Amino acid sequence: MNRRFLRQTAIAVGVVAVALGCWLVAGLLADRMVRRELGTALHVQRQMTRSVVDNMAEVIASDLAMLRAIPATMAETGIAQRALSAAEKYAVTPQLTQPERRNELLRTPALLMADRFLHDAQGFSGLDAIWLVNDNGVCVASSNASDKATYVGANMRGRTYLNNTLLGAFSETYGEDVPGGEPGIVVAAPAYNDGLLVGAVVAKVGIARLRHWVTHPGTFVTDGNGVIIMAHDSALEGLAMPGSPGARGSPVAHTNASTGIGTAAKKRLSEIGLRSAAQRALASAPWMPPADAAQMIELPGLHVPALYEARGGLNSGLSAHLVDPLQAWPELLANRRRDQLMIFLTLAGSAALAAVISVSWVRERRLHRASRDLAEQLQSANAQLAAEARHDALTGALSRRYFLDLLRREIDRAYASGTTLCMAIADLDYFKQINDRFGHAAGDHALRHFVETCRSGLRAEDEVGRLGGEEFGILLPATSLSTGREVVERLRQKVKSGARGELPPDANLSVSIGITELAVSQDLPERLLSRADLALYVAKAAGRDRCEVMPADGALPPRAATEAL
Ligand code: GH3
Ligand code: MG
Ligand code: MG
Repeated sequence: MNRRFLRQTAIAVGVVAVALGCWLVAGLLADRMVRRELGTALHVQRQMTRSVVDNMAEVIASDLAMLRAIPATMAETGIAQRALSAAEKYAVTPQLTQPERRNELLRTPALLMADRFLHDAQGFSGLDAIWLVNDNGVCVASSNASDKATYVGANMRGRTYLNNTLLGAFSETYGEDVPGGEPGIVVAAPAYNDGLLVGAVVAKVGIARLRHWVTHPGTFVTDGNGVIIMAHDSALEGLAMPGSPGARGSPVAHTNASTGIGTAAKKRLSEIGLRSAAQRALASAPWMPPADAAQMIELPGLHVPALYEARGGLNSGLSAHLVDPLQAWPELLANRRRDQLMIFLTLAGSAALAAVISVSWVRERRLHRASRDLAEQLQSANAQLAAEARHDALTGALSRRYFLDLLRREIDRAYASGTTLCMAIADLDYFKQINDRFGHAAGDHALRHFVETCRSGLRAEDEVGRLGGEEFGILLPATSLSTGREVVERLRQKVKSGARGELPPDANLSVSIGITELAVSQDLPERLLSRADLALYVAKAAGRDRCEVMPADGALPPRAATEAL
């Protein structure tokens, strides 16, 4: 009971250990497989990410080049130059409001012409507005001169970009507001007339017109201060890149229409929650190579790690960015779990199969050994039985049946080899008296003693068989009748006067022997037996303790020859 319990416990522990081992190995293999998948996925997606950002940067650069070209070209036109020259001295006076200044300016024909010209140019260029600013920083003509919220008459001195342009430099700025306008990009070019700086041509394009920059999900554009001026997800607009000047509150931070110049500049902008996702990625995928995990970033609201790519220096201070969620992430996690399970089942199945095969092999070996032992036992039992059937149990002489078989075979052999053969029958004399006088055991001793005497007195190839009771057959192959007679005579004498063994000293043991030889041809065992029996009869009749010969041509009728066989 105790041993059985221990065995069952050992088996259970073994099964659990093998299952655990299989699970660990399956985990290692699944890790390798999923790492390769991740490597491919990252490679492909990184290429796509780069191509999206490169494309975006190209579009931004070409749009900006076009945008810069427009005010520069306008500044070269005579209409713009004449208009600026006409209003060169116009300055803001505190007595007049902007609408009053506008009405005043609209009365100048050169400016009216310029208004129409700028209006047409704005129409075909796709810009939001183009306007002229004179040397005093007053907007003197504009494409939106006929609008209610026109710039004409507005005092624009104080705009950073204008300060530079009115000193003769090209300038552009991003996110800068104009009164009542939406955030956009403003480009200003100085205008000259007869070599003298007369003002600036300013063009503005609203962010809304540049939305095609961020059509791809995850893209956004930052200005030179790291402030997001445009994003596919508009919730990101106005946030600043972590650690950028914008995040510390820059002069360009006031990017929305409701905040005026100077107020928002004091305000610190919120940072975009762009952080490394290495730790989170490793927490949900410990199999991930740390180098790959280090490439991952996260954004609030994104449920999977993402790749991040940016291009700066687009000849403008703008930068293109892309936060691209790793699309294969959920599938990779699922694949990893499924692969481990599949490999585990395969390994565990193989282990179970190996166990079943081993157990059945051991059982088969045991069965094989048992059946081999059984066969060996059967064989030795058969051999023993056969030996017992060949020999007489009491004396060890050949059995009657075996002796007669041997006689037949020896006759055939003698005829085949052309040799002679003698056969004798010996019968102990007055044997009944030995039994009667000394007991049956003494009789048995006498029988054994006679066989031993024959064995010691005959050749190895001679045979002795017990034909029945105290009657024995003696076969002498390759022996002539005269020699045979001498052999049995010597045997008779040895029985009479040789050592007595365990026989009582006064027990008279003698034997009568009749011997015959094989006829030259066509002799039969029955006839041989019959002639030897006849010779024995003669020996008994002549007073016992003697040997008698019956040659092969003896004519006496066989005595119960058939009965003997
Ligand atoms: P004879 O000289 O005419 O041969 O006389 P006999 O007494 O030898 O012959 P008989 O045929 O009268 O007796 C043979 C006896 O041999 C009878 C039987 O009890 C005895 N005998 C036969 N087989 C055995 C045996 O296996 N053991 C013993 N102890 N006696 C046996
Ligand atoms: Mg006898
Ligand atoms: Mg007898």
